[in-house]
Amino acid sequence: MSQSSIFHRDLNSDLPVVVAGDGNFLIDATGKRYLDACGGAAVSCLGHDHPKVREAIKAQVDKLAFAHTGSFTNQPAEDLAAHLVARAPKGTGAGRVMYLGSGSEAMEAALKLARQYCLEKGEPERRHIIARKPSYHGNTLGALATGGHAGRRAPFAPLLIEVNHIDAPYPYRLQHDSEGDADFAVRMANLLEEEIQRLGAETVMAFVAEPVVGASLGTQPAPAGYFKRIREICDQYGVLFIADEVMSGMGRTGTSFALEQEGIAADLTTMAKGLGAGYQPIAAVMAAQKVVDVIKAGSGKLWNGHTYMSHAIATAGALAVQQVIENESLLDNVIARGKQLEAGLRKAFAQHPHVGDIRGRGLFWTIEMVADRATKAPFDPADEIAPKIGAAAKVRGVMTYPSQGCIDGINGDHVLLAPSYTSSEAEIEQILETLVHAVSDVVRG
Ligand code: PMP
Repeated sequence: MSQSSIFHRDLNSDLPVVVAGDGNFLIDATGKRYLDACGGAAVSCLGHDHPKVREAIKAQVDKLAFAHTGSFTNQPAEDLAAHLVARAPKGTGAGRVMYLGSGSEAMEAALKLARQYCLEKGEPERRHIIARKPSYHGNTLGALATGGHAGRRAPFAPLLIEVNHIDAPYPYRLQHDSEGDADFAVRMANLLEEEIQRLGAETVMAFVAEPVVGASLGTQPAPAGYFKRIREICDQYGVLFIADEVMSGMGRTGTSFALEQEGIAADLTTMAKGLGAGYQPIAAVMAAQKVVDVIKAGSGKLWNGHTYMSHAIATAGALAVQQVIENESLLDNVIARGKQLEAGLRKAFAQHPHVGDIRGRGLFWTIEMVADRATKAPFDPADEIAPKIGAAAKVRGVMTYPSQGCIDGINGDHVLLAPSYTSSEAEIEQILETLVHAVSDVVRG
């Protein structure tokens, strides 16, 4: 197919036509097979043809697709919400779920719920958002403004709402040589307190963070204790904490929500990718009891809605995905295969002259490429090192998620891996071997 009426393919005629999924492989129209080591952007956590998910979707197609949420609810949407609330991080209370169609929409919904909470609570002066950089929260204007992704923000800068950014913990570049992890965690978390005080505590509405940074920095967990301190600061100043678990949630890091591992809960939590695993486009925001109580006691209405929310096929598909993850104990496999992936990456790249950092958690890992390992100098963006590694791996039949240009002033070439929770030991080995070859196709080891 040389010409395409699809805008993005018309601009990139190299895209193969994908025709089928086979376990953790994708198959294109020429019959070429690609082992999916990134699930697109950490989406496809159950491969591409899970029979139970397919069956659930087909069964729902035969019953009901859509009925407007203004007039009806439906059983799969109810059951999925109950499932999610029951597994929410401790401290959420009896939370409530709102469904959306994408991660960006979920972020917009979370921001609007935060604003509604402040207004209904009688604190209309709370309007400032504090987020982190680097970070990525989506591509709609509000979510894009909230994100600290230098490259994606730049072209739209005058259109974006004003959001204040503090540094996200990025030990490779921000932790001082003599600084222990605990001190680093507190120093980075206290940036939030400084920013709240700078803006005026009574004017701050919400703090937004990815519990494990995904698309911008590449699978960067926070040092232990960071989020505990963040929670304390938010509570002290009456600021809502919005956890963007769009990428890190639904088991990707080894627990249902990445924040569980930090021993705290957010007030609003977004989720998307591993929710539907790509079988259906679906996202959600979960509001903790504290938010629900204020809204119920206030107007008793949600000031946000979209036509396709609570879509019966989407929620039936996502419910099946969540049940498969639980019933097949796949989080155990995330942890086991994650350990294998980490060990393999460290063995292959710990001494590599152009791999500066290896970071991640669960089945969510990244290598950061640098021109000079000693000085940590990045590559020239024009060299397109990460995209070239991604392209070399694709030629060799493995899909990875390369990125660059995310960080202010630093190129940030990195390659992210987010294999399926159903990955076998042999598949992880194939990913590792291919990545080693792809890296040496592009830079000298
Ligand atoms: N938040 C995070 C943490 C993400 O990783 C993404 C997508 N990469 C989004 C929000 C936006 O999701 P979507 O692309 O589905 O709009």
